[in-house]
Amino acid sequence: MKRVADLVREEIRALSGYHVPPAEGLVKLDAMENPYRLPPELARELAERLSEVAINRYPPADPVALKARLRESFAIPAGLDIVLGNGSDEILQIVAMALAKPGATALSLEPSFAMYRISAIAAGLAYAGVSLRPDFTLDEGATLAAIERHRPALTWISYPNNPTGNLFPREAILRIVEAAPGLVVVDEAYHPFAGGASLLDEVAKRSNLVLVRTVSKLGLAGLRVGFAVAPRDWAAEFEKLRLPYNVNVLSAAAAELVLSRAGVLARQTEAIVADRARLEAALDKLPGVTRFASATNFVLARVPDAPRAFEGLKARGILVRTLHGTHSHLSNCLRFTVGTPDENARLAAALAEILA
Ligand SMILES: *Cc1c(COP(=O)(O)O)cnc(C)c1O
Repeated sequence: MKRVADLVREEIRALSGYHVPPAEGLVKLDAMENPYRLPPELARELAERLSEVAINRYPPADPVALKARLRESFAIPAGLDIVLGNGSDEILQIVAMALAKPGATALSLEPSFAMYRISAIAAGLAYAGVSLRPDFTLDEGATLAAIERHRPALTWISYPNNPTGNLFPREAILRIVEAAPGLVVVDEAYHPFAGGASLLDEVAKRSNLVLVRTVSKLGLAGLRVGFAVAPRDWAAEFEKLRLPYNVNVLSAAAAELVLSRAGVLARQTEAIVADRARLEAALDKLPGVTRFASATNFVLARVPDAPRAFEGLKARGILVRTLHGTHSHLSNCLRFTVGTPDENARLAAALAEILA
């Protein structure tokens, strides 16, 4: 269509959107979901609670009950504000829109979360990536040099990093925050699996650091609730870009109830962390597999032939994520979400068969 080509911004036409493959009938180990459902009694209580929600009404302009629940569940200090997103993806978009002055640049480490680049370009920012080292550690010198060169208005750091699974050194991130002329957004989507690692205690001390959290990886991905933790002056600007009613009443009510039963998701994430160690041990026994350290609910591994292993797994009913071809450091890499013990055992057995 000529009009599309004429009217849609060139950089949007050049984008490939975030890819979600069909997973019907497959063991789903591709999207870092918590594999567990709610305990039946809590699921019943949730159904009852949701039946009472006034879906004929718009959500409250300021969903204070949900924010109070998040504040308590995630121990967000009183001096910092919470900005709600329809998933943390929407927070990335809001932050990018707020900072997209003509000529401004967003920077992120690579490989990292695909939405950093997509939301930067969608918002009209220029985008620059800085490569991690081939072993996925942070190249602090290269990152500081890129900050000096590009003077980014916005720098994204995934902590721990998706898709590599590792944590960068906290002190190095703080040096980046100090060197950055713009805002640094630290995305802690995997915080529940990272053994407590967080920069939350640094946000109030700095004028250019904002944190992003989500309930998705914790076990509530379907609700689409994420949030920014920000000093008041940043939060006030982001609030202006947050669409009215962006978190719907059913999601808010569900998140409030489930998060109020602190133990439920905590027990599930503990199990996932323990099972991650078992999956790692199983991968380490396989010939030709290089497994990378993880502080998340997934494990990254290099295999001799990732496209073949990916298809072999799919043929055996298991969907994982292949990262082969997405970045030169990720050649022949697959990313496995930690599933139930049974799913992890199936994955390891299938891989053993494929690699034999
Ligand atoms: C999954 C993920 C997100 C998106 O989370 P939602 O809250 O579900 O939108 C954000 N950042 C990183 C690094 C992720 O891996």
